[in-house]
Amino acid sequence: MCQNQAQRDEEFSDVELVQAVIGPCPKCGAEAPAYSPEEAEALLNFHRDPTHPGKAILAYIRELDYLCDNCSAALEESAESRRSHERYQRLVSTLLTKELITKFTLGPSFEASDPDIEARNLNEWDWARDWTAGRENVWFYGPPGLGKTYMARCLLKRSAENGRSIAEVPAAKWLQKSPKWEENTPFLAALKTVGVLLIEDVDKAIWTVEGINALWELLDARYTANRRTFLTSNVDPEYFLGPGGSWRRGDNPSRANAIAERLLPLHRVQMRGTSLRRETKSSADQAETGNQASDAPGIGP
Ligand SMILES: [Zn+2]
Repeated sequence: MCQNQAQRDEEFSDVELVQAVIGPCPKCGAEAPAYSPEEAEALLNFHRDPTHPGKAILAYIRELDYLCDNCSAALEESAESRRSHERYQRLVSTLLTKELITKFTLGPSFEASDPDIEARNLNEWDWARDWTAGRENVWFYGPPGLGKTYMARCLLKRSAENGRSIAEVPAAKWLQKSPKWEENTPFLAALKTVGVLLIEDVDKAIWTVEGINALWELLDARYTANRRTFLTSNVDPEYFLGPGGSWRRGDNPSRANAIAERLLPLHRVQMRGTSLRRETKSSADQAETGNQASDAPGIGP
């Protein structure tokens, strides 16, 4: 018995046996690489341990999945994509808990985007699909129903998938909270530092002098921290920043210049055309009615 075992150990330590045992890739069937005697010896030594003597080594080697290089690379890639998906899920749940995003924020995606909506502004959609977070801030503007919010949210989603913190806040809601600015609540503080912030419906807010100053503070903090800011509005940026613009009102007209500077470099995305909203239930529709029922655009005249 003992002698047989010893004999088997001898037998199974033969590198030729290893070469014979390792078959084709169990996943794709690709032929196994031919092991040189040295490689087979190394493999055998690697798996030889006191708990796997003799025949056990052979059984062990047979059970191992010797995936070919392609399959093991694919396996590694899917493990990495699973890990990055888990990171994304954790980030999203944190952002939801802190109310920095809503359940609507990450609904839109380029994959689910409506081609009829995109057809109206093909160049802009091409730009968005190619977008990577660089230094630019972005102002999306144009009539409602053309997918401004949808597009901005696609970019937020991409940022989150790349591990950046994001936030979305309607300008009017943010202004309601801005009197508490001095208190520096966690919510307001987070808006200063998240990687990408979407300030929505800038033209639906009522901009008091305090509000304009608070906006400058927010953008100044984000500029200093090198963070990206997105804005959406139905009207173009000049309505706020141009000569006689609404951010020039009040006791400090130069604030508008300061705000404009803090938005540099600014990429403008102008959406042209008429809304498809009343013709069809569109993805842009779903996105933009996602904010608040009371604030649903496109329902008016
Ligand atoms: Zn394979």
